[in-house]
Amino acid sequence: SSIDFSAFRNPTLVRELIVHIHKMAGERPITLMEFCGTHTVSIGRYGFRSMMPSGIRLLSGPGCPVCVTVNHDIDHAIALARMENVTITTFGDMMRVPGSSASLAALKAQGHDIRMVYSPLDALELAQAHPDRELVFLGVGFETTTPTIAACILEAAERDLKNFSVLCAHKLTPPAIRAIAADPATAIDGFILPGHVSTITGVEPYRFLSDDFGLPGVVTGFEPVDILEGIAELVRMITSGTPHIANAYRRGVERAGNAVARAVVDRVFEPVDATWRGLGVIPQSGLKIRPDFARFDAALRFQVAVEPTVEPKGCRCGDVLRGRIFPNACPLFGKACTPEHAIGPCMVSSEGSCAAYYRYREPA
Ligand code: SF4
Repeated sequence: SSIDFSAFRNPTLVRELIVHIHKMAGERPITLMEFCGTHTVSIGRYGFRSMMPSGIRLLSGPGCPVCVTVNHDIDHAIALARMENVTITTFGDMMRVPGSSASLAALKAQGHDIRMVYSPLDALELAQAHPDRELVFLGVGFETTTPTIAACILEAAERDLKNFSVLCAHKLTPPAIRAIAADPATAIDGFILPGHVSTITGVEPYRFLSDDFGLPGVVTGFEPVDILEGIAELVRMITSGTPHIANAYRRGVERAGNAVARAVVDRVFEPVDATWRGLGVIPQSGLKIRPDFARFDAALRFQVAVEPTVEPKGCRCGDVLRGRIFPNACPLFGKACTPEHAIGPCMVSSEGSCAAYYRYREPA
């Protein structure tokens, strides 16, 4: 690439931006939320939370696809994995998330055929190679991931595969941000908007934040300078009372996003009400496979009974995901719950807020 990334890690620029943020914010209480788990990890890695002015709180949001997947969806995959002749494939972190009575990893240890893949295309190839088995891909992820899944379903249709299907737990970002913006218990002053997701969605779907809630949002990249520029721009808009939606990640995000990728998604999926861990049912916040491709929908293809949901006892993931508490306010954090012995998904996932706070020893 022609981009010189060292500029985005320049220590002088980093220091200047931090001083600038302190000057603008003063002691003023400002609560910002980073929606995206990748931002949570970056902010932790560079220690920005403790470098902010005393009034600025950086809350982590629900932008970890593994974390927001509800037990029911995990239990559904587990019920499918228990069927004769079914192979479940999914991304790595998803395997270790505890469902109501087991995890996919635990089932694999019992001998069920469950495999980690890096791409749904790997699942497609497995289906082609094993025509005698049913291959089910457990699909989780936001707008960044769904174009690949959609392309994969189109490819399966093209190859006329009879033994490939997707258990679809995909979610959309803007409706969740709307739910959080509307939550009086959280009272966010501005949003650090996800960089990767916006490469697909563009900036437009976040306009409602300033239009309906008078809140600013800044699409932000993941390098230190990116993150501080995003925060500085939010603080500037908050202190000057000029909220709008800005794009501070111009090298990654076009204003209009990626229309080709959105068209592929739109051909295969349609929006549907979806249940998020912590946030509950959010209207039109999930994706469902369209009737034209119903034969690739694992939820329709197999009739299985899913066990009743049992939440991990004492786990506050729901409150963490909606920004109501910092992860280390959970009584189990770092005691009963650590990455080695995780009780909830926010400690399991590499992008989970609890795991990031634990790894980078974030201040309480
Ligand atoms: Fe759940 Fe563990 Fe996070 Fe507490 S620290 S909210 S138990 S994942």
